[in-house]
Amino acid sequence: MSLYQRTVEQKVLRDPIHGYIRVDYQVVWDVINSAWFQRLRRIRQLGGANMVYHCAEHTRFAHSLGVYELVRRMVNEINDIAESLKEEEKVAVMLAGLLHDIGHGPYSHAFEAITSTSHEEYTCRIIEEDTEITHILENAEKGLAKRVADIIRHQSDNFILTQMISSQLDADRMDYLLRDAYFTGTAYGEFDLERIFRTMRLHESNRLVIKQSGVFAIENYIMSRYHMYWQVYYHPVARSYEYLLHALFNRLRDLENTKDKAIMPYLKPLIDNHKLSLEQYFAMDDYSFNYGFACLVHHKDPIVKDLATRLRDRHLFAYTDKTDADVRRIRKWIKDAGLDTKYYLGRDAVKQRPYVPYTEKIDGAIWILMKDGSTKEISNASNIVYSLIHGPQQDDTKIFYPEELEG
Ligand code: ZN
Repeated sequence: MSLYQRTVEQKVLRDPIHGYIRVDYQVVWDVINSAWFQRLRRIRQLGGANMVYHCAEHTRFAHSLGVYELVRRMVNEINDIAESLKEEEKVAVMLAGLLHDIGHGPYSHAFEAITSTSHEEYTCRIIEEDTEITHILENAEKGLAKRVADIIRHQSDNFILTQMISSQLDADRMDYLLRDAYFTGTAYGEFDLERIFRTMRLHESNRLVIKQSGVFAIENYIMSRYHMYWQVYYHPVARSYEYLLHALFNRLRDLENTKDKAIMPYLKPLIDNHKLSLEQYFAMDDYSFNYGFACLVHHKDPIVKDLATRLRDRHLFAYTDKTDADVRRIRKWIKDAGLDTKYYLGRDAVKQRPYVPYTEKIDGAIWILMKDGSTKEISNASNIVYSLIHGPQQDDTKIFYPEELEG
C-alpha cells in the first residue's frame, strides 16, 4: 500500500456535529479499523462531567474522528493551506488529528491525575512503538509514524501542521467545544465554525491568522471556552466525582493487602505504580475500570468498599468554598464520625485561562490579519479578549467531604 492509495469510494460516517466524517485515504481507513483506535469507543470524552450532564456519554472515538474531519476540511477548503501543503503533509496532518488522543486512559483526564501518566506520552508510544498502528503507518510510507508523532509533540518541521493540531485555535479545541456543548446540552459552547474557516488565512507562508472581519467569531469562540470551563469541565460535582476516584486509588496504594490479583487484574499495575506496558495500557478503559470498581464494592477494607460503592451509586461528596473556619469545622465532623481525613476530606483548586497571550515559550497565540496587512495578537485587537485576560482572574477552590456528616 502507498500513502496516496485511495479507498475504492469515499467512506462516510454520520456525525451529529459535522454531518459526515469523510474518508478518502486507505491508510486513514485502516487506522480507524485498528484495535487501538476502536479502543477509544470504550473511553468517554468527559471524565466526571457526565455525573452532572447525563447525556455526556460521547467517546474519544467520536471526538478523534471529529478532529480528523476538521483537519481534512482545513487542508481542502482553506485555499492558503490547500495550496501550500504537499499531499504527503496533508495525509500526515489528518492522521495526526485522528491519533492525537490515542493515548488517553479511562475517564480521560481524571486518569492522568490519579496515575501521574501523560496521555501525550502514551500517544507517541502507541504510534511509534511497534503496535498495529505503527505497522499501518510504516507500510503506507517508511518514516510516517515518526512524522505523525512529531506533529503531535510540536516537533514537525512545518509549523502550519503544528498549529492545526495544537494551538489555541486548533482542530482539537474546535471539535471538543462543539461536541461537548452538544452532548451536555449547554448552548454556551457553540460558536461560528464556518465563519472561522472562511476568514482563516496564512501569513508569511507559515502562520495561521484570521482576517479582521473574523474577530467577532474568535471572540465568540474564546467566550465559549470560558463558559464551558466553568459550566462543564470545572463543575464542582464533576470534580467531586474525580476526587472520589483519587481517594480510592490512594487507599488502594496505602493498603498492604492489595495482592488480590484475582479481583483487580487491570488496576493492579497502577496501584503498584509500575511503568505500564502497552499491552497493560490497552486493557485499561472505562469498562474494565468499572468492572474493577464493581469488584471493590465487596472488598474487605471498609474504606475501599465505601468509596467504590459511592462511585457506583453516585453518592458523591458535598463541596463548599474553602474558608479556614469551614475546614476546621468539617475536619472535626469527620474525626468525630471515626473517619480518616486522608480519604474523607479533599481539596481542589482550579484556575482557567480561556486564552493565553503570546509569549516566547508558548507560541500558540491567535493572530489577526489587519486590513493594512499587519498582524496583531487577538488580545490587542479585541477589547473583549483584552478585558478577559487583564481583568481579575477567577479561580475556584473547593473542599469535599461526606455530605451526611453535615449539621
Ligand atoms: Zn482531543
